[in-house]
Amino acid sequence: MVTGGGTGIGRGIAEALGEHGARICIAARRADVLAAAVEELEAAGIQAMWVPCDVREPAQVEAVIEAILERWGRLDIVVNNAAGNFAAPIEGLSYNGFKAIVDIDLRGTYHVTKAAFEGALKQSGGHIINITAPFERMGVAFQAHVAAAKTGVDSLTRTCAVEFGPHGVRVNALAPGAIGGTEGMDRIGSGDERDARCPIGYVGAPRDIANAVLFLCSSAAAYISGQVICVDGGAAVGMMQIAPPGSDA
Ligand code: NAP
Repeated sequence: MVTGGGTGIGRGIAEALGEHGARICIAARRADVLAAAVEELEAAGIQAMWVPCDVREPAQVEAVIEAILERWGRLDIVVNNAAGNFAAPIEGLSYNGFKAIVDIDLRGTYHVTKAAFEGALKQSGGHIINITAPFERMGVAFQAHVAAAKTGVDSLTRTCAVEFGPHGVRVNALAPGAIGGTEGMDRIGSGDERDARCPIGYVGAPRDIANAVLFLCSSAAAYISGQVICVDGGAAVGMMQIAPPGSDA
């Protein structure tokens, strides 16, 4: 199950998991986007379904889990990818704008996590992967709403890892850096040139995040749980630099 799996990073994750044999369910609000994505996944030989869902509504989330169990008979991997984003200074950010992002990113992740664990993962084990953002140790202007929501997701990741571990469920989070060609990046107007200034030297692609999801769901990651892993070309660790020795700067 990939929330927000019809576009951007979620779409890349759905494709990668499908290519590795998973049966896919993507869930989000826009039916036309989901239907088109499923058509393309199926054309690539991937078994896929879509269910309309607003992750802010627990009843809709529970209905997705039920639909998956009815169609595929099991649920093994849950990727909490759905999120909203826009740039706004706190001075101009409405009370409702802040609430909307916390509702989608944090409360939505909680709804999906709880419904998936109680409805399926608790019985059969599995994986939960939360797509967060690298805000844990940073203050990023114009992102107060997203940073508050995503660091809440990071915390939820750790709590769930502890509570769900005894049931064979590993819970981790991935914090993407700048990922090109996504609605998310377009909305916060990030320029390619600036984004490419990570130590690895290029803007990431949805496939970079999808590859990390594959790793976390594999036996190679069997002993990893409760972690927030940056997949950002080293951007977060390279934020603060000093002038080269001997330079005038
Ligand atoms: P995106 O294409 O806008 O993906 C967001 C998806 O979430 C959309 O498919 C959207 O579909 C769905 N969604 C939004 N609100 C929803 C709701 N209430 N209920 C259900 N689904 C909802 O953006 P993206 O850039 O690929 O981002 C994917 C994830 O990566 C997000 O968690 C984002 O915070 C994270 N991230 C992205 C970047 C980046 O560089 N792009 C960097 C750091 C973190 P509908 O509108 O149809 O519902």
